[in-house]
Amino acid sequence: MKTAIISGASRGIGKTTALSLAKEGYRVIVNYLNSKDAAESICEQINSAGGSAILFKADMGNPCQIADMVEQVKKDYGSIDLLVANAGIGHNALLIDHSDDAVKKIIDVNLVGVITLCREVGKVMLSQKSGNIITLSSMWGQVGGSCESVYSAAKGGIIAFTKAIAKEFSLSNIRVNCIAPGFIDTDINANLSQSDKQSLIQEIPLLRSGTTQDVADAIVWLASEKASYITGQVLAVNGGLII
Ligand code: NAP
Repeated sequence: MKTAIISGASRGIGKTTALSLAKEGYRVIVNYLNSKDAAESICEQINSAGGSAILFKADMGNPCQIADMVEQVKKDYGSIDLLVANAGIGHNALLIDHSDDAVKKIIDVNLVGVITLCREVGKVMLSQKSGNIITLSSMWGQVGGSCESVYSAAKGGIIAFTKAIAKEFSLSNIRVNCIAPGFIDTDINANLSQSDKQSLIQEIPLLRSGTTQDVADAIVWLASEKASYITGQVLAVNGGLII
C-alpha cells in the first residue's frame, strides 16, 4: 500500500484530499494542529470504509515536529510515496498593519514549513529513488494579492521552490508539482462577507467558487501515473480567474 502524508488534513482542501487519496488506495497520514476532533472523524470515516488513515498532530511551523512526523512515518511504514504540502494560514491586512509576529508566522507556516517538510520527506524519497510531491501555492503567489502581501510572498516562494526541487530531485525519479488554487470556499476565506464572495464570483469566468473536490481531483490526477511526464509545473485550479 502506498503511503501519503497530507499536511493540514483536518479541514478544507486537505480533508477532501485525504478522503480522495484514501479512495484511490493510499494509506493517508492525516496531519493536523488544532482541529483534533475533525481530524479524528476523517480517520474514522476512512478506516470504517476499509481504508487506512493515521492521525498525526504536528505543527508545520515547527521544524522539529515536522522532522519527528516524517521519521515516525518512515519508521512505521517504510516508504513515503506521496507528500501533499497543503497546510497553510491566511492573513488579510494592509502591509503596514502586519506586525513582526504576523509576518514571521505567515512565512514560518506557509513557506518555511513547506520547505522543511519537503526537505525531510525528500531525504526519504531520494533514498528510495521514487516519490511524488505536490505543494499548495495560490493565485496570489502568481500575481500578488492586495492586503495579502506577505501571504503572496510565501506562496510565490513556494512556486520558485517547487520548480527548483523538481530539477534537483528529477534524477531520483521524484516528480514535484504545485497547485495554485483560486477562490475555494473554505474556512480560510471566512473573513469575506457573502456580498464580497458574490462580487468575487462575478469576476470568475466559470462564474462559481471552486470546491475542495475541484482541488483534490487535480491533486489525485497529478499524483497518478496519468501525469507521469509532468514535473516542475504550476497547475491553476481557479475557474479562469487568473489566466
Ligand atoms: P483551511 O480550510 O483554513 O484549512 C487549513 C488547514 O491547515 C487545516 O487543516 C489546519 O489544521 C491546517 N494548518 C494550519 N496551520 C497549521 C500548522 N501550523 N500545522 C499543521 N496544520 C496547520 O484552508 P484551505 O482553504 O483548505 O487551504 C489549504 C491550502 O490551500 C493552504 O495552503 C492555502 O493557502 C491554500 N489555498 C487556499 C485557497 C482557498 O481559497 N481556500 C486559495 C489558494 C490557496 P488545524 O485546523 O488542525 O490547525
